[in-house]
Amino acid sequence: MNQRFPSRHPHARGLGVTSQRARDRLVAGLRQAGVTHEAVLEAMARVPRHAFIDEALSYKAYEDTALPIGHAQTISQPFVVAHMTALLLGEGDPPDTVLEIGTGSGYQAAVLGELVRSVYSLERIPPLYQRARACLRELGYINVRVRLSDGTLGLPDYGPFDGILITAAGEEVPAALLDQLADGGRLVAPVGAPGNQRLMVMQRQGRDVTTRELDPVSFVPLVAGLE
Ligand code: SAH
Repeated sequence: MNQRFPSRHPHARGLGVTSQRARDRLVAGLRQAGVTHEAVLEAMARVPRHAFIDEALSYKAYEDTALPIGHAQTISQPFVVAHMTALLLGEGDPPDTVLEIGTGSGYQAAVLGELVRSVYSLERIPPLYQRARACLRELGYINVRVRLSDGTLGLPDYGPFDGILITAAGEEVPAALLDQLADGGRLVAPVGAPGNQRLMVMQRQGRDVTTRELDPVSFVPLVAGLE
C-alpha cells in the first residue's frame, strides 16, 4: 500500500542499518501506542527524522519525544505526528493537496510529502524556513513547497486544499484557513490557550463545518505575522 510516492531521498538506503533499525523500532512503538494507519506508519519508517534536527541531538531522533529546533520551537513528538497525519488522511483516498501551517523542522511536511501529491508548508521564522527548505530539497521532496509567510492567512492563491494541518496552537482556527478548505476537506489543529489545548478535527460539507474535539495536546503558539 502507498507506493504511489516512494521515498526519493538519495540517502534513504545509504544511511546504514542503525537508522533504519531505529526507525523501525520507533514505528513498532507507535503501533503499540495505538497508531493503526498503515500508510502513515510506512511513511514514518521512511522519513529520516535525524536529518531534520541538530546533529548534537541526533542520538534522540528516533525516541518518541519532541525536541528543540531553535528559536523557541520544537519538532513534534512522533506519536503526535502520526496521530495528526492519520486524522488528516482518514481511511479513504488520501487528500490530493495539503497545506501545513508551521513548517518548523520540515519533518511533518516530509511525512505528508510521502503520502499526498502536493504539500504546501508555511513558516514565519526566516532561519527555520531556510533550514527546512534546504533539508527537504536535499532529501528530494520535490512535491513539498515551503513558503516564508504568515500561516494565519493561509495561501489563498493555491487553495482550496483537501487537507489543512496546523502544527501550532491558536485560541481558534483562523477563519481564512477554514475558507481555504475544500468541500469534503479536513482540517486538523491544536486549539486553545497554553496548558489547555485540544486537538480538533474539522470537516467541511458545503457551507457547514463539523468539529470534533479530541485529545489534550501541547503545542507552541500560533503567532500572526512574520518574525
Ligand atoms: N511541524 C513542525 C513543528 C512545528 S513547531 C515540524 O515537523 O517540525 C510550530 C511551528 O509553527 C514553529 O516553527 C513556528 O515558528 C510556526 N508558526 C507559528 N505561527 C505561525 C504562523 N502564523 N505562520 C507560520 N508558521 C507559524
